[in-house]
Amino acid sequence: MVDGPDVTLITPTASMSVDRHGGRAKCLQRLVRLDMPVPPTVALSFAAVRGIAEGRMPDMTAILAAFAADDLLSVRPSSQDPDWGGPGAVLNIGMCDAALERLIPRLGEEAACSLYLRFIQSYAVEVARLDPEEFHLPERPDRAALAQALAAYEAEMDAPFPQDPGQQLAEVLRSMARAWDGTSARLLRQARGAPAEAGLGLVVQRMALGVGQGSCGSGVIQRVSSESGEPQIIGRYLSQSQGRDALRNGARALYLTRDPRGPSLEETEPEIFAALLDFGDLGRVRLREEMEISFTIEEGRLAILDAIRVQRSARAAVRIAVALAEDGVIPRDEALMRVQPQALAELLHSQVDPNAPREVLGEGMGASPGAAAGRIVLSAAEAQAAAARGEDCVLIRRETSPEDIRGMHVARAVVTLRGGLTSHAAVIGRGIGLPCVVGASDLVIDKRKGKVTGPGGTMRAGDIVTVDGAAGQILMGAPPLRAAELGEAYKTLLKWADARRDIGVRANADTPQDAQTARLFHAEGIGLCRTEHMFFEGERLGVMREMIFAGTEAARRAGLERLLPMQKADFIELFRIMAGMPVCIRLFDPPLHEFLPRDKAGLRDLAEGLGLPLAEVEAQVEAISEYNPMLGLRGVRLGLTYPEVIDMQARAIFEAVAELGREGAEVTPEIMLPLVSAMREVELVKARIEAIAAAVRAETGNALTYRLGVMVETPRAALRAGDIACHAQFLSFGTNDLTQMTYGLSRDDAGRFMSAYVRQGIYEEDPFHTLDQEGVGELISIGAARSRERDARVTLSICGEHGGSREAIRFCRQQGFDYVSCSPFRVPLARLSAAQLAIEATGAPA
Ligand code: PEP
Ligand code: MG
Repeated sequence: MVDGPDVTLITPTASMSVDRHGGRAKCLQRLVRLDMPVPPTVALSFAAVRGIAEGRMPDMTAILAAFAADDLLSVRPSSQDPDWGGPGAVLNIGMCDAALERLIPRLGEEAACSLYLRFIQSYAVEVARLDPEEFHLPERPDRAALAQALAAYEAEMDAPFPQDPGQQLAEVLRSMARAWDGTSARLLRQARGAPAEAGLGLVVQRMALGVGQGSCGSGVIQRVSSESGEPQIIGRYLSQSQGRDALRNGARALYLTRDPRGPSLEETEPEIFAALLDFGDLGRVRLREEMEISFTIEEGRLAILDAIRVQRSARAAVRIAVALAEDGVIPRDEALMRVQPQALAELLHSQVDPNAPREVLGEGMGASPGAAAGRIVLSAAEAQAAAARGEDCVLIRRETSPEDIRGMHVARAVVTLRGGLTSHAAVIGRGIGLPCVVGASDLVIDKRKGKVTGPGGTMRAGDIVTVDGAAGQILMGAPPLRAAELGEAYKTLLKWADARRDIGVRANADTPQDAQTARLFHAEGIGLCRTEHMFFEGERLGVMREMIFAGTEAARRAGLERLLPMQKADFIELFRIMAGMPVCIRLFDPPLHEFLPRDKAGLRDLAEGLGLPLAEVEAQVEAISEYNPMLGLRGVRLGLTYPEVIDMQARAIFEAVAELGREGAEVTPEIMLPLVSAMREVELVKARIEAIAAAVRAETGNALTYRLGVMVETPRAALRAGDIACHAQFLSFGTNDLTQMTYGLSRDDAGRFMSAYVRQGIYEEDPFHTLDQEGVGELISIGAARSRERDARVTLSICGEHGGSREAIRFCRQQGFDYVSCSPFRVPLARLSAAQLAIEATGAPA
């Protein structure tokens, strides 16, 4: 009897579940329920297979009794999630000398010998663990080849090939159960997300032979493309074959649909072909999924052996989920839940073809996804020169600084040897969608000789490399890439996501180009415009430097006067692009020395430009340099030390608003103060900004309004958020600096030891990558609660690099935040994650 909980004949009513018997066994039961012609199958539960591995065999006589005495059997793995893999299938169990003689009259000698030889081969390799080299399938499967294979087996094992089908089956079950417990199988499935204790089920099925007289063969069929997800009948059929032979022997396989290149199953077996299409349609609707069906034709009769989820690229996953929902097969919520947000990154950026071989020069942290190839350049100037020649280039630097911005903009990808996930290169890379690898500490740059050396070899400036910003690899040469492509299904899915989510998603966008990207990805406004990035371009850098070198307030003001129209033009363009959506402008943040050249040649150029002696310029640079610039004169401190900078920025914002007002467009800008640590800072700056607003109101007659907010990125600002909220209408948590300061961990240097820290479990994850909810999160909760106690209307958000991640969005939803803001290219991922979290919170679809 095989109707126990652990050894179960698959019938429509048998008690079976994915959690006990695995996905394949459960799916076979569904096929049986749909009346598909599935050969008799017995499922062994996880518990049964665990027992087998530990030496407790199930009742083999009962299992065999489920089949006819002469049946050949197959055993296939059935893990909970098919992606977790499992041991390879073993076919033709039961082949022995007696079976050979029995089958020859029915199948012919060649076919019968072939079955026996195949079984000896897989038994020798999979069960007896003999050298596969010794057990090739011969060209001519005849009695002589058989005798040779049996002799080879006996010679290796010192025992004849087992002739008892019961013993054969028991040995196959035992070897598959043990293989699942092996170290390599465990590591492999854990790498695919399986828990350590994941179970394995097995299915024992009567073989539908696929070889013999008349119409015999096997194949696979699916009704969508794995690449695009578009409807397309795909598969192969091979006459006189078994298992997945049809896929291996591509040249001899038949096409499924009519094809000018050769004969097809549709022509040779029209009825069977039509039945397969019907089963595909039925499976799609009733199993609510696109399935790849494995089938066999046994002497003219169709048998369905198995069905698994169609393998799919990210693009196909989106297309399939949307099509199933549009056809009413699954609800929209389920379609939203079926697509991994991370998969969208594959649609937004080009990828290295997953099938392409990789020659890795070196590795680091994948800081900005996408892949691009170009010639190696070792400085921003060389990048610009390469771009001027129309050449694609990859910029490889020890680290990047704001000075490299223009080089980065023209490069196809950027690699830095130092830095972590919130370092300059990483933030800019993500912002502009540039593939970027940081912390590639196994690379060595020899700038003088123009060489880059890594574990994979040495390359020269001008050689072609490819950066895979998702995998964190620098590859030698140019493997084939897959282009980014959004498509209609993507748009539909994200429209559904927007209807479902309950937290806003804005973009961090510094330039008009970023803002365009933000619009393209349907951000609901700009959550962080880092205004300093506007001053690294073209003549602005020069004016900025003059301003920094101005000795007096009057001279500084003169420099700022020249910057004002440029800054105003920036804001007009941003407001226009964002068309009435909120734009949060952060006042000047970085320490001033970031605008100064770092090397001698740059200092000489600067001295020339300013008409000053080099020594004087050097002395001034020295005078403004700080031991800890990230904790020094930056953020609001800079604005309070040189208030004329705030005046200029506020005026530029308000004059831009007034100018758009003249065109009939209404804009309510948001002004945000960086690196605040005390309420008084806010009070002072607020008074200053209000004075400028009043002046512009008087000058222009525009009754402009604005919102003033604070970026909470020091622990003290979080703790004193109650006071700060007296003067701020919104608080945005800058989790990059807040993480840096909470841990006392430099965001630019952490990359050096972060992987060792994570490996040893000191930190569970890189806190610059995954929001630390215990520490940084507690400060955010405190800040949120204290600010709300003071003023319940305060708008709360997060704008550090964590903003787009699922875990940070979950945290912000729990805290009741209004929105998250992230790099433009992460906006689609954030929109989908937010929808999934809302669905999860209201009960995931069945
Ligand atoms: C932050 O500190 O979280 C932030 C968004 O600002 P920046 O990265 O410009 O310091
Ligand atoms: Mg910051």
